[in-house]
Amino acid sequence: MADEFTSKLDAYLDGELAAADMKALDAHVRACPACAADVLGRVQMKRAIKSASQRYEPRSEFRAKIERRLKPRAGFPKDPLYFRLAGIAKHRIYVARWPPHLP
Ligand SMILES: [Zn+2]
Repeated sequence: MADEFTSKLDAYLDGELAAADMKALDAHVRACPACAADVLGRVQMKRAIKSASQRYEPRSEFRAKIERRLKPRAGFPKDPLYFRLAGIAKHRIYVARWPPHLP
């Protein structure tokens, strides 16, 4: 069962929280069976992924295909202003549709 700590469990396991938050989560996980089980499952999944990554090497064609997809597209704007305007436009579309039409 999720609680207010659940969303921080990945950051906790990766050691990405501030020291005070790490300490609070550590204490919580020790006292909360649901979060302790969740942490255990996440640790097992991380180990399985790490283990699989050591056993399997992607074919060179697959690696090349992924790398091509990750390269920025020619002509695609890199200006942060573009992203800000796109965000505003998205928000305006959302507002224009409010309230949503219910079936
Ligand atoms: Zn908990």
